[in-house]
Amino acid sequence: LQPSQEDIQKQRQTLPAYKARGSLIPMIMNNQVAIIIGETGSGKTTQLPQILYEAGFCHDNTSIGITQPRRVAAMSVAKRVATEMNTPLGQKVGYSIRFEDQTSAETRIKFMTDGILLRETLLDPLLLKYNCIIIDEAHERSLNTDVLLGIFKNLLTKRKDIKLIITSATMNAAKFSKFFGNAPQFTIPGRTFPVQIIYTKSPVDDYVDSAVNEAVRIHMQTEVTSGDILIFMTGQEDIETTCESIKDRLTEVYAKKNGVGSFDEIDDIEIFPIYSALPPELQARIFHKLDHSKRKIVVATNIAETSLTIDGIKYVIDSGYSKLKVFNPRIGLDSLMITPISLANANQRSGRAGRTGPGIAYRLFTQESAEEDMYVQTIPEIQRTNLSNTILLLKSLDINDIVHFPFLDKPPLQTLLASLYELWFLGAIDNFGNLTSLGSQMSKFPLQASLSKVLIVASQNKCSEELLTIVSMLSVPQVFNRPKEREKEADQARGRFFVPRSDHLTLLNVYNQWKSNKFSSQWCEKNFLIYRSLARAHEIRRQLIKVMRENDIPLVSSGSDWNIVRRSICSGFAHQAAKVTGLRKYVNLRTGMAVELHPTSALYGLGDPPTSVVYHELLMTSKEYMCFVTAVDPFWLMEFGPLIYDIKRVKQYEDDCST
Ligand code: ADP
Ligand code: MG
Repeated sequence: LQPSQEDIQKQRQTLPAYKARGSLIPMIMNNQVAIIIGETGSGKTTQLPQILYEAGFCHDNTSIGITQPRRVAAMSVAKRVATEMNTPLGQKVGYSIRFEDQTSAETRIKFMTDGILLRETLLDPLLLKYNCIIIDEAHERSLNTDVLLGIFKNLLTKRKDIKLIITSATMNAAKFSKFFGNAPQFTIPGRTFPVQIIYTKSPVDDYVDSAVNEAVRIHMQTEVTSGDILIFMTGQEDIETTCESIKDRLTEVYAKKNGVGSFDEIDDIEIFPIYSALPPELQARIFHKLDHSKRKIVVATNIAETSLTIDGIKYVIDSGYSKLKVFNPRIGLDSLMITPISLANANQRSGRAGRTGPGIAYRLFTQESAEEDMYVQTIPEIQRTNLSNTILLLKSLDINDIVHFPFLDKPPLQTLLASLYELWFLGAIDNFGNLTSLGSQMSKFPLQASLSKVLIVASQNKCSEELLTIVSMLSVPQVFNRPKEREKEADQARGRFFVPRSDHLTLLNVYNQWKSNKFSSQWCEKNFLIYRSLARAHEIRRQLIKVMRENDIPLVSSGSDWNIVRRSICSGFAHQAAKVTGLRKYVNLRTGMAVELHPTSALYGLGDPPTSVVYHELLMTSKEYMCFVTAVDPFWLMEFGPLIYDIKRVKQYEDDCST
C-alpha cells in the first residue's frame, strides 16, 4: 500500500519534532551547540534536517550534514527524507557510506556514516561545505562519533559560523552538554505508552528457541489486529534461524488447525528479517504497511533499538544479547562477540513496544540477572576496540598528542599503546611516533591499516591489480553460497576454485573467472557464488582504484607471479601468522596459542600442511580458527615479523605438544 504525498505530509506534521520546530529553530539560531533529546520515533532524524532546510539554513549553497553510526540507517533515512521532500534520492537529499556515494552538487541534506564525515575532515579540516552538522544517535557512543566530538571541540573555535547539533536518547545527554561548555539541552515533548515487562522465571538455554516459542505463542493467542511483534537477535545467523523456525512451527500448527501444507498458504502473517548485510530492497520491506488482516513479525539486530523506527509494534521479544566489537589484547585484534546487552539497551528495546499504544516486552532473561549481572550502560566503543585507524587518522590531521586529545571518555592506555605498536610494526609511524610517508599514504584508504599497507606494498611489488581484487573480495560479506540440502554440491563447486595453499588467491581466482564470464549472474548461480557480493566487490574495487589514482599509487599486474602476491599479503599480515607444530596443528606466533585452519579454507585437510601461514582474521568459537589463510615463506615472516612474536611462548607450546 503506497501512501500518497498528502498522507506523507500529514503524517510528518504529527511528529513531535515537527511540532516543536517553533522552539527548536530559535534555540539553534542562538547557540553554536545544542543537544536535542527525544523518544525514538519522535522525528529527530527525519524532521530536524528538513526543518532547518525550510528555515533557510542552506543559504549560499552550504549543506546540512547528518551522521549515523550505522550504514543501514543512513541509507534508509535518506530515502525516507527524499520521499517526504518529494525529490529523487541523490539530488537535494543524498547519502554517503563507505564505498557508496549517492550525492551530487545539488545535495543540501546529506546523510552519512560518522566514519565518512571523519574522512571528510582529512580533505577539508574546517568542513567548509557545511553550515550545520547533526551528530545523530550520539548516545550510541560509536568510536567515530566520539572522535568527531573531540575534533569538533577544536573546530568550533575556528568555525564560529557552524552549528553543531547532537541528538541523543536521554542517557548521556548531560555528558554531551558538559563536554561542550554546558550547551543547552532541549527535550522534544512526546508521549510514550506504558510497557509491561515480563522476565523468564529461570535462565533460558537457547534464546533462539525461546524467542520462537514466545512469538508463536503470541501469534496464536492474541488477535492479529492487536499489534506486530519485534524480536531482537544478535546477527544474521540467528535472525535467519529464528525466521525459518517460526515459519516451520507455524506451518505445523496451521497444518493441524486447518490443513495448510506450507508457510506460504498461511494468510495472516509475514516475517521480515533486518540486519546490515541484507540487501537494501529487502531492508525497506520492514516499513511497508500490511493490510489489517495481517500481522508483521520483524526479527532485527540492535539496529531496531533506536536507529530505525518500525511503527505498530505491540510485542517485543528481547534475546538479551547483541554482537559487540571487542578488542582482545591477547590476540591484538578486534573480534565480534555475542555479549549480554546492558540495562540501557534492554530498556530501549522494551520501549519499542510502547510507541503507539500500551505494549508488552518479553525479556528472555531473569529479573535477577537484569538487576545483578547487567551493566547499566554499554561500555563505549572507544574503550573496547582497536584504535589503529583512529590514531592514523588523527595523526594525518596533525593531532600527534593522542593521549591529550579531548576524548569524552579516555581509551585505556593499554589499547592506545597496543594500537600504536601495531602502527609502528606496520611502518606507519616511526620511532618517535611521527607519521611516515607510508603511514600518510595508508591513511588515504578507507580500509583497516594492514589492508592499506598491503595495497601500497603490492604497488611497489608490481602486483597491485591482483591485490586490489583480493582486498575488495575480503571487504564483502560471504562470497560462497551454501544452501541447505545442497551442501555437498556447493562444497564441490567451491573446491573447483581452490588455489593450492591460499584462500586469498582463491578469491582472486573466483573474481577473475567471473570477469572472464562477463560478470554474469547466471554463472554465479551455477557456481554457488553470491552474485550480490561479487558485484559489491567489483564496486569497491572501482572505488579503491579512484583512491589509488588520486594518490599516484600505480596500478600494475604481476602477470602470473603468485609468489610476489603472497609476499605482498605477508607484508601486512606478518603479525597474524602461525606455524605448523604437528599434524595439522598450528601455533599462533604472536600469542603461543593453538589455532586451527577453518574447515572452509583451501588449506584445510591438505596432506602436507604448509609450515608457515598468515591469516586475515580469527574466528573464536570453542576453538580459535584462522579464516582466509595463505601459505608464506618462513623467511618473509622473519623479514616482516620477528619483533612482534612471542618466541618463548611458542617454544613452550611446542615443548608441551611434543611431550
Ligand atoms: P527518531 O529519529 O526521533 O527516532 P525518525 O525521524 O527516525 O525518529 O522517525 C519518525 C517517524 O518517521 C517514525 O514514525 C517512523 O516510523 C517514520 N519513518 C522513518 N523512516 C521511515 C520509512 N523509511 N518509511 C516509513 N516511515 C518511516
Ligand atoms: Mg533517529
